[in-house]
Amino acid sequence: MSETTLKNGVNALVEQIDSRVAAFFNSCVHCGMCADACLFYTETGDPKYTPIHKLEPLRRVWKRNFTFWGKLAAILGLSKPITDAELEEWEPLVYDSCTLCARCSLVCPVGNDLAYMISKERAGMVAAGHAPPGLKGATIRAVDIGSPMGVTWKTVQAQIKHTEEDTGLTIPVDQEGADYMVIMSSMEIVNFPEYLGSIARIFKEAGISWTICSDATEATNSGIQIGSPDIAGKLVQRVVDGAEKLGVKYVISPECGHAYMAIRWEGPNLIGRPYKFKVIHILELLDELREQGRLRTEGTETARISFHDPCQLVRRGGLTEQPRRLLKMVASNYVDMPDPGIWNWCCGGGGGVSANDRADPLQLRVFSRKKSQLDDAQVETLVTCCANCRIVLEGGLEHYQMAIPVVGLTETLAKHLVTQPEEAAKTGTGQGG
Ligand code: SF4
Ligand code: SF4
Repeated sequence: MSETTLKNGVNALVEQIDSRVAAFFNSCVHCGMCADACLFYTETGDPKYTPIHKLEPLRRVWKRNFTFWGKLAAILGLSKPITDAELEEWEPLVYDSCTLCARCSLVCPVGNDLAYMISKERAGMVAAGHAPPGLKGATIRAVDIGSPMGVTWKTVQAQIKHTEEDTGLTIPVDQEGADYMVIMSSMEIVNFPEYLGSIARIFKEAGISWTICSDATEATNSGIQIGSPDIAGKLVQRVVDGAEKLGVKYVISPECGHAYMAIRWEGPNLIGRPYKFKVIHILELLDELREQGRLRTEGTETARISFHDPCQLVRRGGLTEQPRRLLKMVASNYVDMPDPGIWNWCCGGGGGVSANDRADPLQLRVFSRKKSQLDDAQVETLVTCCANCRIVLEGGLEHYQMAIPVVGLTETLAKHLVTQPEEAAKTGTGQGG
């Protein structure tokens, strides 16, 4: 790295220190409670995985540039500026051992949002050229091709055709004036195409007016994961442009955790203005349809079923009750695992960890926490609502030789959907959002 790049990187770290970050560092009482909230620490026992320790580069930059004693020490030559070698050394800790799950933020007695601070640290890291190769590649593909997995519109069209043949329904594309616009993650398109078929069937029964936008199918936001607000903003803008061009009232965020975080909570700040539409998560919409009697199911699953709470949807997104209300419609033997809802433990692959091959061994090691949750509750089938969690859960279960199927919530509901005569379906055309 050149000196200029390093300077830019350190400057980028300095720029990340806003009033929140400064207040958080100032108020840390070094209690260590965040350690026991982080599965990378609890499952390894290695103190380097303590959340506040992962912030050491940012803390040093804050101290040196924003505190009286730090500035004095710098002037007197008593403290050293951060070096490129140190940034490089810290990079795996910042990216491989943090899923941005925010469990640590929940326990901090002085209210430090450590996940927010780690995002800020990533922003400085990536500006200095330090980010995992796997995540860099995914981000470049997201910007250049429109998908972190390189999924093109041609691939989406192929899945649409396949879904139409499978369901006998027409998937609406580029329908101006539709009420809802559906976006999907690349993982759903490639690995779980049943999601598209499921919403097509449910929406038909509920009389929902919806569309896919050929310019904006991708929900995944690699910019959020790698920590680049510029790239994150560009990816949000694509969805916003597509939705505003079609004039839809709602964009439906799919079964993907961080996509919801990006488009619903971060998006308007990233692009610097409010949207002309609302964002709703698919489970919020399905729960509203349930309440209105427009989502009806029959029969139940008899296996001992539990729900894995995706961190970005539940702890950070507030969708705690909707998935349980929906799942209980079709699961007669539902059981919560220990630490459910906002206290749930991450699958280990969020926050870009699953896109970072280098982190695979660590990710599998910390899956031991999910294994013990599943063992405790004697779970026979696991349901979730995030395609990334689902892939990570499947990999972890295979690694630990646990024969537990993992399924998506929307498809589980669609499996039990009550279909009504054509004419009756046409009458249910009211707003669900
Ligand atoms: S956000 Fe989650 S993974 Fe990251 S340090 Fe905190 S508890 Fe650990
Ligand atoms: S829990 Fe909060 S106060 Fe305690 S060490 Fe962690 S960041 Fe500091």
